[in-house]
Amino acid sequence: MAVATLDNTFARELEGLSVPWQAAQVPQPRLLIHNEALAAELGVEWGVDVFAGNEVPEGATPVAQVYAGHQFGGYSPRLGDGRALLLGEVVDRAGRRRDLHLKGSGRTPFARGGDGKAVVGPMLREAVIGEAMHALGIPTTRALAVVATGEKVMREAGPLPGAVLTRVASSHLRVGTFEYAARNGGLRELADYAIARHYPGLGYLEFFEAVVEAQASLVARWMLVGFIHGVMNTDNMAISGETIDYGPCAFMDRYDPATVFSSIDHMGRYAYGNQPAVAQWNLARLGETLLPLIGGEDAVERATSVLTTFEDRYGRAWRSGMAAKLGLREPDTAFIEETLKVLEEQRVDFTSFFRALPDAALGDNRRAHALFAAPAEFDAWADSWRPLTSSDGLAALNSVNPIYIPRNHLVEEALAAAMDDDLLPLGRLMEVLARPFEEREGREVYAEPGPERFYQTFCGT
Ligand code: AMP
Ligand code: MG
Ligand code: MG
Repeated sequence: MAVATLDNTFARELEGLSVPWQAAQVPQPRLLIHNEALAAELGVEWGVDVFAGNEVPEGATPVAQVYAGHQFGGYSPRLGDGRALLLGEVVDRAGRRRDLHLKGSGRTPFARGGDGKAVVGPMLREAVIGEAMHALGIPTTRALAVVATGEKVMREAGPLPGAVLTRVASSHLRVGTFEYAARNGGLRELADYAIARHYPGLGYLEFFEAVVEAQASLVARWMLVGFIHGVMNTDNMAISGETIDYGPCAFMDRYDPATVFSSIDHMGRYAYGNQPAVAQWNLARLGETLLPLIGGEDAVERATSVLTTFEDRYGRAWRSGMAAKLGLREPDTAFIEETLKVLEEQRVDFTSFFRALPDAALGDNRRAHALFAAPAEFDAWADSWRPLTSSDGLAALNSVNPIYIPRNHLVEEALAAAMDDDLLPLGRLMEVLARPFEEREGREVYAEPGPERFYQTFCGT
């Protein structure tokens, strides 16, 4: 197999948005995860030294990218890759340009107070959840490799094993990249580059519309599987429409729109139910940066009229997705909302509920009863549900509703074992999550909701 050489159009074509930088050397790199199928797709055959940052791939000029961003609503004028590097780009087997990026590769000029490092647990977590999202058919960055560095990294909890993650993305252009360029120069070049790379042929306003559509569709997909990103700052929103930056993310178990897992999200800004509104807020920040390019006296009105289409686009994607999850003949908003109200009141596990429907369609409510605090509530709901369904919709239920999601307790167990040098539980979990719609014998525990207990996730570790 020919080994792809890395290109660097981002660094070459966009002045002022990156600085050449080198990864820190690490003492004892050890490969924990290597995604062979993805490597083959990319045509990349690298060893542990490249994944660790100890060796630069042939012909590559790694850079740290600069960007700004609104974090929890407040503007930070200069963030950037504080602990990450863009190694370069490959054109994959399908002809798509993909970024290869190291995370945890040491301090850069954008590190501020940080140590530039990453920890094994969170990097494995990004790999598990990102790959699960990919298998669910949700646009996402992916993990090509995770390496343990043999180094201890100091964190609040004490010294922890260091790691480097190799991330693959269709690009690392963020809303925050536009915010930075709008204030520091190079905006038009950035926009032209983003358009050529992701939305070829579009004008600036159409480009904005395309990103609005991509994000509306993405966030609808998150909502349909109960995914909570956890830190939807504008620097963590990709122009491509891929899910990016798996930090404090987690899947909701019992249905509750107020669900928050992130330890630092005190106000619930990034709660499950707020995600569509936050996405639109972030897109408003993108739209503002594009005003000078859209041009004309009515630039604000035109950008605003595009921004307001978010609600419709999101609503359509979400309603049709919910209709499919319920096997409905048509997207019946009132019924969908009524359903969610019942799930919330009954504290029903969101994922399991939909997998109980095929049985219930045949009149067997036992699987559903087990999920309800008051099982009679399900029977009443099901009586109003059955007449609204179609046979095609019912036949397709198990192909739109996953049985396996990365449940918090399973992820934690697998990561704890990995920290003890036992990678088996993690491997088994990833294997199950790779085919999330296919119920498999002997894998029942992977489908079960975890114990109901306080669960918290952390950023920047
Ligand atoms: P995030 O919350 O992951 O989106 O990160 C926000 C910013 O903090 C980004 O600019 C990161 O590069 C930076 N950052 C996070 N952790 C570290 C670290 N350990 N060292 C240096 N920079 C970091
Ligand atoms: Mg980030
Ligand atoms: Mg992060």
